[in-house]
Amino acid sequence: MKFAVAIDGPAAAGKSTIAKKVAEILNFTYIDTGAMYRAFTWYCLEKGLDCQNHDECVKVIPEVTIKLRPNHVVLCNGIDVTKQIRETRVSGNVSYIASYKEIRLALVEQQRAMASKHSVIMDGRDIGTYVLPNAEVKIFQIASVETRAIRRYKENMEKGIPCTLEEIKEDVKKRDYIDSHRDFAPLKAAEDSIELDTSNMSIDEVVDAVVSIIKKTAKEKGIDL
Ligand code: C5P
Repeated sequence: MKFAVAIDGPAAAGKSTIAKKVAEILNFTYIDTGAMYRAFTWYCLEKGLDCQNHDECVKVIPEVTIKLRPNHVVLCNGIDVTKQIRETRVSGNVSYIASYKEIRLALVEQQRAMASKHSVIMDGRDIGTYVLPNAEVKIFQIASVETRAIRRYKENMEKGIPCTLEEIKEDVKKRDYIDSHRDFAPLKAAEDSIELDTSNMSIDEVVDAVVSIIKKTAKEKGIDL
């Protein structure tokens, strides 16, 4: 039987780090929905479009095919954009792209199709509230802005993505604002989600907590994982 886990929360809260590890432990498919909005943004930037111009960006929907490969490789029209989608220019524009309903509907359709085939752990902003409202487990992962900015800064340094801590902090705050104030499927905790504040938790502690919640829920629902 299929099982769905939604992990939502603000930018750089460590959702993907946790989701990847939990997926490995439980043999679930990990789906990084943020990578899809990022890939779309990368395409618009490559085409020289103004990401703040709704009409210009929704027009290219039919031109864009995004694929998530099992090894976390992201393809946009067959091009490997795994690294490029983490660049500052993409992070700085992705929230505009993600606020356009037409683009969301196109990507959500793909996300739901993936969840219909496998047991998934999907991370994003609207997974528990909109994409998979019937997910068996919904986690809302948070951490202070300071903690999130430092974590993302370190991650970027390790990946060789140039940035400053101040830039990251501003980016995180700006994205959270736009993501939580958009009209359609904004960043919001689902009423039936479990809030997990990871500010003072190690990665392993968060992974253990999420795995326990999933196992407990599966047992209660009589689902074999
Ligand atoms: O998860 P990540 O930080 O990579 O997501 C990048 C951006 O994509 C978010 O800031 C948000 O604007 C958008 N996003 C979204 N809905 C999702 C996942 C990401 O709007 N489910």
